[in-house]
Amino acid sequence: MSPLLAWASNNKLNNWAGNIEYSTDRLYSANSLEQVRSYVKKQSKLRVLGTRHCFNNIADSSHSLLSLKSMDKVVALDSDAQTVTINAGMTYGQLCPYLDRKGFALHNLASLPHISVAGACSTATHGSGEKNGNLSTAVSGFEFVTASGEVLKFARAHDRETFPGAVVGLGALGVITTITLDIQPTYTMRQYVYENLPLSEVTDHFDSIESSAYSVSLFTDWRNRRVNEVWIKSRDEKGQSFTATPDFFGGKLATRNLHPIAELSADNCTEQMGVPGPWYERLPHFRMGFTPSAGKELQSEYFVPRHHAVEAILAVERLHDQVSPHLLISEIRANRCR
Ligand SMILES: Cc1cc2nc3c(=O)[nH]c(=O)nc-3n(C[C@H](O)[C@H](O)[C@H](O)COP(=O)(O)OP(=O)(O)OC[C@H]3O[C@@H](n4cnc5c(N)ncnc54)[C@H](O)[C@@H]3O)c2cc1C
Repeated sequence: MSPLLAWASNNKLNNWAGNIEYSTDRLYSANSLEQVRSYVKKQSKLRVLGTRHCFNNIADSSHSLLSLKSMDKVVALDSDAQTVTINAGMTYGQLCPYLDRKGFALHNLASLPHISVAGACSTATHGSGEKNGNLSTAVSGFEFVTASGEVLKFARAHDRETFPGAVVGLGALGVITTITLDIQPTYTMRQYVYENLPLSEVTDHFDSIESSAYSVSLFTDWRNRRVNEVWIKSRDEKGQSFTATPDFFGGKLATRNLHPIAELSADNCTEQMGVPGPWYERLPHFRMGFTPSAGKELQSEYFVPRHHAVEAILAVERLHDQVSPHLLISEIRANRCR
């Protein structure tokens, strides 16, 4: 069977970070809904692989893996309803330029565009921005294949009680084959970076800093009681724009593009220093077409309620001697919960 890709035994299938080697090399690549249904019916157990960016074994299976990578087309763009329906194998990197060309945008993106929409939404992947819900909050409907091969649909408008849990289903409900996302008119953004904010300014003015722009990210290595960099992403719209002054809560406006880890080249980072550009080339930190981030690092995340944010920051700061030696960088973000 040509779509059944037998991986050479010395070429094991890994996740992006290389810390997980999947437990099977049985990977089936489906090209259509019918192929998905027929494959699922024949398997006793399987997991769907997205773009393999999870750092844990959530996508792993010891039985079989299913990829929808080649199912990566736009199914429908409804300009009046402001929705787009796509095949589940599509990545944000494929979808965003298409949407922009058609005059539309998404409300938010993760730090990189390389990830699949289905995998990102299934795991509640988020960007930054205290008024921005995570990426799954844009999902208004999806179609999936159950373990028996049945095709079911969920819609936010009809399945109000169960919908949020079904969208962030962690790959457990079935194989998502299409997803419908809310879109909005396209917009441009500017990105500014400030260096070396004293930690005391961040803890004293956390709310003001987080609310200063559409999307705000703080990067720190927990050394020297400072936040190394603040990335501010501002929408070029009335009431949303950020006025870039030379000083921001004690931090200094950067005069060159920076990587979140200042010692690394900023070549793979999105454009900064207030240069206007499309939303999908400013919301992520890393550009499509480059290896994101620092390479094969490991990431972990902790979520705390907003009212505990400063307390949580100070708790980690107290551990800086233990934490910093093992760390490339930490990112602090605020998100809207619903
Ligand atoms: C460099 C890097 C940067 C990152 N930045 C961020 C960030 O800014 N914010 C953030 O929140 N996270 C971030 N992540 C984490 C990433 O967004 C999540 O791991 C996300 O799940 C990746 O999607 P994927 O398709 O690669 O997932 P995979 O690891 O392939 O799969 C994840 C889960 O989704 C399921 N799944 C995938 N496709 C389907 C489908 N069609 N039907 C049913 N289930 C499916 C899988 O079975 C699995 O359970 C980052 C990861 C990396 C490596």
